[in-house]
Amino acid sequence: MITTKLQKAINDQITAELWSSNLYLQMSYFLKSQGWDGFAHWMSLQAEEEREHATKMADYMTDRGGTVKLQMIDVVPEGWGSVLEIFEHAYSHECKVSKMIDTLVGLSSEEKDYATENFFRTFVDEQVEEEATASGIVDKLKKAGEAGIFFLDAELGKR
Ligand code: MG
Repeated sequence: MITTKLQKAINDQITAELWSSNLYLQMSYFLKSQGWDGFAHWMSLQAEEEREHATKMADYMTDRGGTVKLQMIDVVPEGWGSVLEIFEHAYSHECKVSKMIDTLVGLSSEEKDYATENFFRTFVDEQVEEEATASGIVDKLKKAGEAGIFFLDAELGKR
């Protein structure tokens, strides 16, 4: 059984994951509207991945006898100046999510709930990957000229 305090924190994290999913979906449709089909495809898969994080956490909570409470999802930003700006935003968002996951690991440890601590440690590893992927794309976009961005769009469309 998970403590009430942890259940609340996990429900908040589930909400945050769903918000992330909406953010990436919004980015995906914005990219699509600008003709960047490859980047849009990459972002839509990213949105699906965030939804999977939410359901993975909700399944875990259920397995441990906790109660999943889906909350209202706040509106997400819309409209960006460039493809680079979108990926910079995605990268800074992932850094924020990493901090939230770290807080959950810390709280699980404080509550002496080591199963939950272990569970969220898998997301600590996941976040290392998420940050590296987003920052890698930002680096490439910074180096790419106009032709390079078309190449990158095609490349990410293969995800
Ligand atoms: Mg996530």
